[in-house]
Amino acid sequence: MIPFVDLRREYQAIKDEIDQAIQRVLESGWFILGKELEAFEKEFAEYIGVKHVIGVNSGSDALYLAVKALGIGKGDEVITVSHTFISTVDAIARNGAKPVFVDIDPETYTMDVSQIEKAITERTKAIIPVHLYGHPADMDPIMEIAEKYELYVIEDASQAHGAEYKGRKVGSIGHIGCFSFYPTKNLGAYGDAGAVVTNDDELAEKLRMMRNYGSPKKYYHKFIGVNSRLDEIQAAVLRVKLRHLDEWNEKRRKIAKLYNELLEDSDVITPIEKEWAKHVYHLYVIRHRERDKLQKYLTEKGIKTQIHYPVPVHLQKAYLDLGIRVKLPVTERISREILSLPIFPYLTDAEIEKIAMVVKNASNC
Ligand SMILES: *Cc1c(COP(=O)(O)O)cnc(C)c1O
Repeated sequence: MIPFVDLRREYQAIKDEIDQAIQRVLESGWFILGKELEAFEKEFAEYIGVKHVIGVNSGSDALYLAVKALGIGKGDEVITVSHTFISTVDAIARNGAKPVFVDIDPETYTMDVSQIEKAITERTKAIIPVHLYGHPADMDPIMEIAEKYELYVIEDASQAHGAEYKGRKVGSIGHIGCFSFYPTKNLGAYGDAGAVVTNDDELAEKLRMMRNYGSPKKYYHKFIGVNSRLDEIQAAVLRVKLRHLDEWNEKRRKIAKLYNELLEDSDVITPIEKEWAKHVYHLYVIRHRERDKLQKYLTEKGIKTQIHYPVPVHLQKAYLDLGIRVKLPVTERISREILSLPIFPYLTDAEIEKIAMVVKNASNC
């Protein structure tokens, strides 16, 4: 059996470093808002190339707090994509604002920038592009439109730690960047964790209070905040893993290259990397007209695959119940054709070759 992802292999490779880091926290007797988080925030800020990193509980909270910190709420609209993980859109809805969906580009699966201006109204406050699967959204046109209409840009970089747009790390380009450190992400904790990043001093200060009960000082509360912190054990784990991130992303890129070569003369569509992009292949997503059949065949042959995502957000019951009605032809077509093959830094060449062979054979079935 070939797993979709196997985090045990990664742990075995870095066991000593991880065990030491966790031990250090246990022995310190300090578990929330301490030296590890402070150090991780500094190290991740340096890595991404931003002034401030604010560690929070999850990627979902990062997005929710980002929208809130910008003062976006009831009566406001936020433009985003439907082809994403649900949290991107929940962040808008949880703040009482209305998500406005635009379709995606059929090559990169990220926001179709030619659709944005048509979606802007006088209520529009922000745009949330998603760097899906590890491929950056086309940020230059997004930032130009945002400037022209005075909108904020929040990047959802939850699948793209280390990905680059024209040489800049994603997350550092918009007003706010949001990251998830869910265990299977390119940079993952051993539990839930996330971060908000920004170059804006005022926003950073506000976000720091927001994640900690709106508190500038212990037992003094400036506004109503939440409890959403990245704990010391997770921060210590993330500090270790951050040191391996570039090497792991390179491994992912190599795996993708090998898949691309092996699948070249098959009838599946393989992912592309735009000339302005550095893709970090959080997921390796292929497309096939008979996706369900292909997935079934792979399962029978012991190869685990997943679909990211089978139902676009605008067709989820939760959003239909909110009264969202919109047609997104590319999003809808692609959701029926996509299939994610196993990809993680410790997948072996033999496994990749086996998977590619089975995918090719599937077309003869
Ligand atoms: C993982 C993910 C999130 C949510 O992150 P959590 O840490 O699981 O809350 C948000 N957006 C995208 C695109 C993601 O992939």
